Amino acid sequence: MAKKQTAGRDRLGNLAPKFAELNDDVLFGQVWSREAQLSARDRSMITIAALFSAGLYPQLKSHLVLGKEHGITKAEAVEIATQLAFYCGWPKAWSVFPMIEEVYGSTDGEEGHVLSCFPIGEKNNAFAKYFIGQSYLAPVSTQQLPVFNVTFEPACRNNWHVHHAKSGGGQMLICVSGRGWYQAWGEAARELHPGDVVNIPAGVKHWHGAAKDSWFQHLAIEVPGEESSTEWCEAVADEEYRKLD
Ligand code: MN
Repeated sequence: MAKKQTAGRDRLGNLAPKFAELNDDVLFGQVWSREAQLSARDRSMITIAALFSAGLYPQLKSHLVLGKEHGITKAEAVEIATQLAFYCGWPKAWSVFPMIEEVYGSTDGEEGHVLSCFPIGEKNNAFAKYFIGQSYLAPVSTQQLPVFNVTFEPACRNNWHVHHAKSGGGQMLICVSGRGWYQAWGEAARELHPGDVVNIPAGVKHWHGAAKDSWFQHLAIEVPGEESSTEWCEAVADEEYRKLD
């Protein structure tokens, strides 16, 4: 979803209040938000191309930041600059690559994403057969209460599964980055954002994962229980997943 903008009022509210109002309420409030016509990510890409072409670098940097929030990956940003170099000028790409580095960071994970203060960890190969798409697993705590940071690439999600326990048990998810979904069997899917907490009782069939167009990261906490185990079931049907925006 397009991010609500207050940049106009924040930066120009005193000097140019009408411009600030048009920027925040009309350009962003009415044009950028028309996602049925063109997604926020697509709008970011064309805006980046326009600013790149015109050499408007301070605005371009702001739009690289916004594009990242709209789901453009570092690899995609690099690809955009590579292609635009041919249409707009080679030196412009030289100017823009360091900006991409600044926006996305250079000490990031394998896929070029800095998502949160928690590590991304390794490819989650051990559980890959229970996931669609690539996920990553990083142990955050291995003492007292095991806590893992799970990272999902866009459209990655786990299969339906059940955390069983004779008593206690279940799972808690604490969302730390990106946008994702949680769905319990027979219920509507719940959209997840950083700061959201999901309490999953033992015995409830469910899945969790990223939105189609966004990376997603949650801490997974295994709630202590008697005779706990996880039962993996069928994959989330593509046509059901695709309905989620
Ligand atoms: Mn689970």
